[in-house]
Amino acid sequence: DTVPRLALNDGHTIPQLGFGVFKVDPAETTRIVTDALKVGYRHIDTAAIYGNEKGVGDAIADSGIARDELFITTKLWNDRQGTQSAFDAFEESLEKLGLEEVDLYLIHWPAAKNDRYVESWKALEKIRESGRARSIGVSNFLVPHLTRLMEETDIVPAVDQIELHPAHQQPETTAFAHKSGIQIEAWGPLGQGKYPLFEEPAVTRAAHAHAKSPAQVVIRWHLQRGNIVFPKSNSKQRMAENFDVFDFALTGAEEQAITALEREGRVASHPDDVN
Ligand code: NAD
Repeated sequence: DTVPRLALNDGHTIPQLGFGVFKVDPAETTRIVTDALKVGYRHIDTAAIYGNEKGVGDAIADSGIARDELFITTKLWNDRQGTQSAFDAFEESLEKLGLEEVDLYLIHWPAAKNDRYVESWKALEKIRESGRARSIGVSNFLVPHLTRLMEETDIVPAVDQIELHPAHQQPETTAFAHKSGIQIEAWGPLGQGKYPLFEEPAVTRAAHAHAKSPAQVVIRWHLQRGNIVFPKSNSKQRMAENFDVFDFALTGAEEQAITALEREGRVASHPDDVN
């Protein structure tokens, strides 16, 4: 196995590098996830709202890969937060994925204005108890959301999946999560292609020095910082490129130069603006 596994606070482990399917066309998802599995990815990150869980499930079923070699994550959408609605949404996700259980189930956003994330978390705790989600976690939770959850519920989330890339590193949330035993999953690890990360000298210099691409350098930076990542690409060639990051290491100075690209450069929505 080339991909390292990180320990979660519930005794399970997670492959540190996976494949994400946000904005992957449902009609193309089976083909794209099949390609990703052929490249070697075993960790797939989807969500109910992506509309492509069925495509992910079909690719898994067609692959013949043993279930215990795969790590599958999906997420509860905001409008299903609550108790019974969360149970129902979870069942629908399992059904679409064609799975008996998922490896990780997340609350997709706090949607704090609706004030149902604590109630929803208690539903996820029950789902975990039932064994049908081995691990449970959250996404887009900032320190106040994590703090409240830990004060009012029993299980500490296994992960917090947040927007994180060199221009937006969320040091506060990351430090708080790590102190609390929560692993950080970095979504938009390549900045979603929305700013010229791949032209930054700190990135291109390291790429040149190691004969790697800028994308490989950024993925490597995440791995060395302890982040779980699942870059997305529809192209099999880029999937393979993004997976080929275990034969080199950034020096401390290279890593620091990329860390210095922080500029609070959020490329997507602030969690308080998503409901
Ligand atoms: P990303 O940072 O992975 O960027 C994807 C973009 O980068 C694609 O458009 C692709 O064209 C480009 N790209 C990929 N590989 C490349 C390469 N080797 N060279 C050049 N360009 C390359 O962004 P993302 O897809 O938003 O994030 C990854 C995953 O994170 C998603 O697929 C999804 O699973 C998850 N995610 C979660 C949330 C959330 O709210 N929890 C939000 C967004 C994304």
